[in-house]
Amino acid sequence: MSKKEELECSFCKRKKEETNLLIAGVDAHICDKCIEQAHGIVIEETISEQNDKAASEFLVKKPIEIKDFLDEYIIGQNHAKRVMAVAVYNHYKRLLQSPNTSKGEDIEIEKSNIVLVGETGTGKTLIARTIARMLNVPFAIVDATVLTEAGYVGEDVETILTRLLQAADYKVDKAERGIVFIDEIDKIARKSDNPSITRDVSGEGVQQALLKLLEGTIVNVPPKGGRKHPDQKFVEVDTKNILFVAGGAFSGIDKVISKRLNMQAVGYSASISDDKIDEENLLQYILPTDLKTFGLIPEIIGRLPALTFMKPLDKKTLRSILTEPKNAIIKQYKKLFEMDGIDFTIDNKALDFIVDKAIEYRLGARGLRSLCEEILNDAMFEMPSSDETKLRVSMKYAQDKLTKSTIKKLKAVS
Ligand code: ADP
Repeated sequence: MSKKEELECSFCKRKKEETNLLIAGVDAHICDKCIEQAHGIVIEETISEQNDKAASEFLVKKPIEIKDFLDEYIIGQNHAKRVMAVAVYNHYKRLLQSPNTSKGEDIEIEKSNIVLVGETGTGKTLIARTIARMLNVPFAIVDATVLTEAGYVGEDVETILTRLLQAADYKVDKAERGIVFIDEIDKIARKSDNPSITRDVSGEGVQQALLKLLEGTIVNVPPKGGRKHPDQKFVEVDTKNILFVAGGAFSGIDKVISKRLNMQAVGYSASISDDKIDEENLLQYILPTDLKTFGLIPEIIGRLPALTFMKPLDKKTLRSILTEPKNAIIKQYKKLFEMDGIDFTIDNKALDFIVDKAIEYRLGARGLRSLCEEILNDAMFEMPSSDETKLRVSMKYAQDKLTKSTIKKLKAVS
């Protein structure tokens, strides 16, 4: 037997000819298969270490501190902030308890995915985005309306994770700890009461497909998304530790709530009718059963255990949104002008005027920005090339810039 044939991997004892590659060390050899296996172990260990570190670092922030952070960016919406803070805190506790770290404990904490119910423009996306920013995890927004059951026109449910992978620079371990905001979840409610729909392509089927994702499963994700790239290699993503926040306007759900409350009032007349119901804001009484009546299947509701609501924005809130949050719109303009050496101020009356217009034309919080943009556009265009160093926006200035036709134009695009 020649010396060459005797060479073997010191780890698995495979003979040289059974390997693709055998690398020599000082006193030992290692084959390609063992290298690959060892590499896998190193990666796994590092990821679980990183996860534990991120989770334990995060746990330093208690729910009250999470809410304090949210307060810096989001006006009002106290109930939603509290529910979110607890859900996120518990989510991270759960990460700490993942099989890699739990020491034989038999209580498994379930995921705390969240549903946010509230009109469009009330800050649902903002709240989810702010949480992601605080945690420094990848964040993706997907629109439930484009999702369809596999095989139908539209996007497969797996493409939700494509977005998250993109947001995580294709780092699977990062994506696996990210947050996904599923917008317009109400649009995939069951439409079975509509007789013209024979096959509920965009409703219940999509909800069924979403179930597994929400609960935690390993999904084969097309990294480039869609079906346009049939040759792409799929990437395995485990959704176990991904936090899902679902948002929707659930338009008409107030009637569902009202009906339920009235029925309860009849059933247990004394206790409930004594408690005055705030008819103006019925969303505050929302319960999971209302989502079921609306058309979400019970299994989906079960996998979105934290339920909260966003209040409609009143005049006072809109006014605060303009100036108070850490990155309030007006603060942003101030900064922009400052970069050109321009001292920008805006009178309170002008701010009130902007809010009034946003309410009058039902533009909501999103409209505030477009209104400011219309008012300030001329100044932002001309002033950087002029010698002027001051811009004071009075009510008259704002009125002059915002003619009826410009507001109508804003309304058309909002
Ligand atoms: P939704 O997801 O509910 O449709 P968004 O989160 O997209 O609403 O909100 C639209 C914009 O309105 C945000 O970018 C933000 O500037 C503003 N906004 C809405 N609600 C608030 C709030 N409570 N505090 C601060 N800004 C808000």
